[in-house]
Amino acid sequence: MVVENRFHLPYRCEYDMHQVVLSKSHPWPKYPALLVLPLLLRDRVLGTLILGAKRANAFVDSVRSTLEVLASHLAVSLSNARMVRELETMATTDGLTGLLNKRSMLEQSEQKLAAAVRFGRPLSVLVVDLDHFKRVNDTYGHDVGDVVIRGLAEILKRQKRTTDLVARFGGEEFVVLCEQTDEHGALLLAERIREELKCTSFHSDTGRLSITCSLGISTFPAAGRSWDELFKAADDALYISKRGGRNRTTVWAGPSPKKTARAPQRA
Ligand code: GH3
Ligand code: MG
Ligand code: MG
Repeated sequence: MVVENRFHLPYRCEYDMHQVVLSKSHPWPKYPALLVLPLLLRDRVLGTLILGAKRANAFVDSVRSTLEVLASHLAVSLSNARMVRELETMATTDGLTGLLNKRSMLEQSEQKLAAAVRFGRPLSVLVVDLDHFKRVNDTYGHDVGDVVIRGLAEILKRQKRTTDLVARFGGEEFVVLCEQTDEHGALLLAERIREELKCTSFHSDTGRLSITCSLGISTFPAAGRSWDELFKAADDALYISKRGGRNRTTVWAGPSPKKTARAPQRA
């Protein structure tokens, strides 16, 4: 009601102990004085400030008007904090998928790599690229293409562990960075991603469609000791997957990658 009416409650600032202030499962302390103020920013209500006092009649008119000034300052600070958070999100994430953007991934990868070097732990890079994605855009339109990109992003979010980083690197290319993960662990993750996408069917106005992806994997320290080396190795492995027929994972295994996870199956 305070939000709706943009006016403080209760009218006399007295707490009737039977009233529910927040909800029944979140009881409010039984103090005799209560004041719920709207946090107003111009004509927008951002929230409420709820105050209780152990002393009856604590919120007399003069006190209340001071608290109303405080509430308006709070509203400005809250709004600024929200804007800063929104800007941070916009600067670090990709608008279409909500994943990290390339710049943010590069920044964070430096830290992850430094930790891997310091503690001598493996770290794997997966590069994921949709197969023949151009055909999806050409056949079904850009909007359906976007749905497919978001679909793969959801699979990546679901399959990754909490310590893994996932970023959209380019149009339909994604990178997963896995801490404390060797080639074997990275291959298991890559195959789970590939399988799930292969089994996913997307809606379009002209029918359902499915798509596959190809993956390349490189692991620190065998495939390189810097981000550039590791990314290049994973990208080279991805290229082998593409050249080998797509819908497969390749683990970087030296200047000429050998290990290909599986042959593609035509649907
Ligand atoms: P390959 O199997 O070799 O990877 O073939 P491909 O067709 O997937 O590869 P290519 O890199 O030639 O095509 C990528 C396409 O992705 C081209 C571009 O139109 C499309 N694309 C890039 N960004 C977006 C996007 O944000 N939305 C949509 N719908 N399409 C995008
Ligand atoms: Mg592609
Ligand atoms: Mg591509």
